[in-house]
Amino acid sequence: MTKDQGLAVIHKFGGTSVGTPERVRGAVRLIAAERYRQRRGRLVVVSSAFGGVTDRLLEAIRAAVARKETHRTILGEIRERHEAALRDLADPAEHPSLRAHLDALWEQVRELLDGVFLLRECSPRFTDAIISAGERASVPLVAAAFRNAGLPARAFDARTLVRTDDRFGEATVDFATTRALTQAAFADLPPDVVPIVTGFVATTEEGVTTTLGRSGSDYTATILADALDAGRVVIWTDVNGVLSADPRLVPEAFTLDALSYQEAAELAFFGAKVLHPRTMRPLVRRSVPLEIRNTMDAGGAATVISDARTGAEGTVKAVTAIRGAALVTLRGSGASGASALAARAFEALAQAGIDVFLMAQASSEQTVTLAVRGTAAEATQRILVSTLARELERGDLLGVEVEEGAAVVAAVGDFMHYAPGVAGRMFATLGKARINVLAIAQGASDTAISAAVSEADASAAVRALHEAFAMKRTRAHLVLVGAGAVGQRLLALLDAQQEALLDRQVNLQLVGLATSTRAVYEPGGLPFDTAEDALRDDHGLSDVLDEITAARLERLIVVDATASEAVARRYPDLLRAGVGVVTPNKQAGTLDHTFWQDLQAAIRARRAPFLYDTTVGAGLALLSSLREAVRTGDRIRLVEGVFSGTLGYVFNAMRDGTPFSEAVRQAHAAGYTEPDPRDDLTGVDAARKLLILARELGPDAGFGDTVLADVTTTSLVPSDIARLPLDLFWARLPELDAGWERQRQAAGADSVLQYVSTLDVDAGQLQCRVRAVAADSPLARLRGSSLVAVCTTDRYAPEPLIVQGPGANIDITAAVLLADVVRAAEAM
Ligand code: ADP
Ligand code: ASP
Ligand code: MG
Repeated sequence: MTKDQGLAVIHKFGGTSVGTPERVRGAVRLIAAERYRQRRGRLVVVSSAFGGVTDRLLEAIRAAVARKETHRTILGEIRERHEAALRDLADPAEHPSLRAHLDALWEQVRELLDGVFLLRECSPRFTDAIISAGERASVPLVAAAFRNAGLPARAFDARTLVRTDDRFGEATVDFATTRALTQAAFADLPPDVVPIVTGFVATTEEGVTTTLGRSGSDYTATILADALDAGRVVIWTDVNGVLSADPRLVPEAFTLDALSYQEAAELAFFGAKVLHPRTMRPLVRRSVPLEIRNTMDAGGAATVISDARTGAEGTVKAVTAIRGAALVTLRGSGASGASALAARAFEALAQAGIDVFLMAQASSEQTVTLAVRGTAAEATQRILVSTLARELERGDLLGVEVEEGAAVVAAVGDFMHYAPGVAGRMFATLGKARINVLAIAQGASDTAISAAVSEADASAAVRALHEAFAMKRTRAHLVLVGAGAVGQRLLALLDAQQEALLDRQVNLQLVGLATSTRAVYEPGGLPFDTAEDALRDDHGLSDVLDEITAARLERLIVVDATASEAVARRYPDLLRAGVGVVTPNKQAGTLDHTFWQDLQAAIRARRAPFLYDTTVGAGLALLSSLREAVRTGDRIRLVEGVFSGTLGYVFNAMRDGTPFSEAVRQAHAAGYTEPDPRDDLTGVDAARKLLILARELGPDAGFGDTVLADVTTTSLVPSDIARLPLDLFWARLPELDAGWERQRQAAGADSVLQYVSTLDVDAGQLQCRVRAVAADSPLARLRGSSLVAVCTTDRYAPEPLIVQGPGANIDITAAVLLADVVRAAEAM
């Protein structure tokens, strides 16, 4: 939070933040807390009308224009709402004076509405007079609520402070006069009294009521900040700051921590309702920071808008849309290459106060298209026809056509013009989403790129663009196959780490889950913690895999947490379809050679990442270390190690006197073993890991054609026992105890037994077998289920590189798996 420098701070509460008496009290509490924090410097509060009141007053006007008596009913409801708030918020002693004020106000509004009813029309001037009542009614009640809570406060009608011209509905501020009026008005106000000022409203020099345009209270706050040389402005609203898109359209939109004035202004200009477009202007000269905070989450995520331009080149920060736009097209030979003509048109429109959202020129078709607000379409056409009368007469221009029902979508971020790729990506994305682009903005502005689409496509366009740019956040969709121990732990981790990952700009969303018997696919997202409850009996893994490949979600990652060969066999197709694969499943690395080559080809096609660091020594980061060594030119010569936590555990326990069968049982109970312990005991698991390691060394190491059968493996259990059904297997295991005890004795006191995997590049040999190793060698010094790899390379010789670490239990596997998922998401 900014330091208290004794400067004024302006706090603005929007309609939703004062929508109910309860909310008003919440606002009072917030200011009480702020006042406690900020000892020096004046606090000023700007309040909107109670939420929805301005809209209701406009409805009343429309009803009156249409000569419907309902304008009275509407006004009656508004009165009743304020009367209820009065009773709820104000001290009873204040009721009579407040009621008198409100009665007079409503009486005035009634007269105005009756006038509209008679005249059957409502001028902008009348409209402003009527809708100004919302703020004029709310502010005295909010001030009373402050006083009722023991905070001295005084209501101010901004018509005594803010001076404008008479452009009703969107008046232009006279800052010098406003400054003089405001400073004079506050001069005698004791420092501890909080002025509560009406937002939105102002007056002309003649004292005629004006308004600053819809959402104008935001602007009032910064106008006052200018007038009082404030140090900071806080806009309190109902969302956590400015989000990357309208949260009602894009639920996964997120708070933008920092925006430049330009970015915020551009966002507001292109329709983001959270701020009035002119809000930033009074702040720029003195670089006054503007915070956007959530009344209901005061300490939560928020946005700071300042003069710092933090975005990297071409980083799209937010996507927004203006609905209800119209396209006005000039057609004719005079329209091509007619920048002078366009300049004249712009000039005339600017003078009439018409915003042009976009200009597009199609020289081949000899047209210039402008996007304007639908309500300004007719005026635009009229102005263009008169401004360009000469060209029209001469036939250089054939006509000015209007097409309603358009929307302008914009991608906003600083330094856009340095990033031509963004425009291309924007249009490719809209094309992929089958959205017809009606007009493309001519050249990117510094801070936004925009395009016109049909109004019906506006929401889809915003969603597609938000998705495509992912706003710096790497959003990835996950499908988890396998909900066993590792799968469940991964889900728990994802649930626990979600916030931390979001802070690191990684947004992972679970869209599917499949077990061997059941599955669910939900493109809208599944909660990590309850996804399993959504599993459906009538759905299987194949259904889900088919659905996800058909759905073409962006950044889709399948996490295979099974040990299934069938699932592994789908990897090449998934990768070719652009779906990333992350897995601790060792099958893919060890299936037949044809499959392996197919998989390698799919990986080389580089459509999607394939990550499997959990398959070998996850806790050692062994695969990534070796990969990095090879990549940087080292040559691996010999790797010896204990890669099976289970077997390490079994031999360590035997060394300490535990019988073989008991040691196996303990390892199984502790969750070290593969789901089927025989995969470990027969050495198959160790052999698979060794093969994966060997293949990781690349074709130069000479293991390119090696298959699992080429790994010489000794089993710890004779094949007749290993082949038994699991329960019989467990029952017969103790028969082997005596034999192992003999072997242990035979090794002698200076040696210990260990199951060692050896990868000898020079000899072209892969071997997994029981060895008696010197008691002081790194291979012998293991505890529990820990693993070790002793690597001799060109760089590490004669002193080898020794990597030792914990065996991959479920926690470590899930953690490394999550790291792979994040890496995959970032790589896509
Ligand atoms: P207030 O009453 O506080 O002035 P508004 O309704 O005027 O509030 O503005 C806040 C609303 O703006 C949010 O509730 C949200 O629905 C909408 N909105 C649109 N675009 C954005 C955006 N990019 N970031 C935040 N809010 C947005
Ligand atoms: N009450 C006005 C509106 O609804 C101004 C504001 O809320 O900012 O537009
Ligand atoms: Mg607003």
